[in-house]
Amino acid sequence: MIEVKNLRKSFGEVRVLKGVGLTIEKGDVISIIGPSGSGKTTLLRCMNFLESADLGEMVFDGQTFDMSRMHRKDVLNIRKKTAFVFQNYNLFFNKTALENVTEGLVIGRGMAKDKATEIGRRLLNRVGLAERETYYPSELSGGQQQRVAIARALAVEPEIIYFDEPTSALDPELTQGILSLMRELADDGMTMLVVTHEMGFAKNVSNKVCFMDQGQMVEMGPAKEFFNSPKDSRSKAFLRTAQ
Ligand code: ADP
Repeated sequence: MIEVKNLRKSFGEVRVLKGVGLTIEKGDVISIIGPSGSGKTTLLRCMNFLESADLGEMVFDGQTFDMSRMHRKDVLNIRKKTAFVFQNYNLFFNKTALENVTEGLVIGRGMAKDKATEIGRRLLNRVGLAERETYYPSELSGGQQQRVAIARALAVEPEIIYFDEPTSALDPELTQGILSLMRELADDGMTMLVVTHEMGFAKNVSNKVCFMDQGQMVEMGPAKEFFNSPKDSRSKAFLRTAQ
């Protein structure tokens, strides 16, 4: 479904991604793990063109793109098939939970408001927030705000959802709720690429794991295999401290 090859990105003199590659198949739930500063978030942001790549190729649904020279039209076309869930939720603060979910459908896709509202209500119900549709983000807990963000991601029926450390701003109790919701999405067959520090999620929910270190994809493979018998010495060292 998606293949990224030789992705390079520097910020000034700092080489953050040094030729990273990744293959995603439909239905994959892939966790990207690794030490802080290894380039995980930058990889995810480059993949949705929130950062521009210096070099790299992406194959998306059979079409090949030069990631360093993306046309606006191609970016918009790819974004129609993807959704992004941020660490800090990125909700519209002046809109209710329901409006946050429907906004992309009405404004972005030109859907009739009634239809968008129906979808929005169904999805708020799906993430356990049926009673909160008129609440503003400031009236919701972090976990509830992230649920709204996930409902918003689902609303556009994406082929893949990118998650950037979706639970790192949450306390442990709320974290578990979001992780359970993500597990449900995975069980429903949603394709997901998740930057995470949650080793339990990486081990038990994702089918594949990518381990990054210092801007490189050090090891990539089935989650069980990675956790049971990591091959690279850096993966082994990371797992010793992370679990
Ligand atoms: P990770 O997600 O693995 O913690 P990041 O991708 O967030 O790593 O960051 C990798 C490196 O890139 C870090 O050294 C970080 O300081 C740097 N970096 C990330 N974004 C920017 C930016 N917008 N400007 C400058 N440096 C950045």
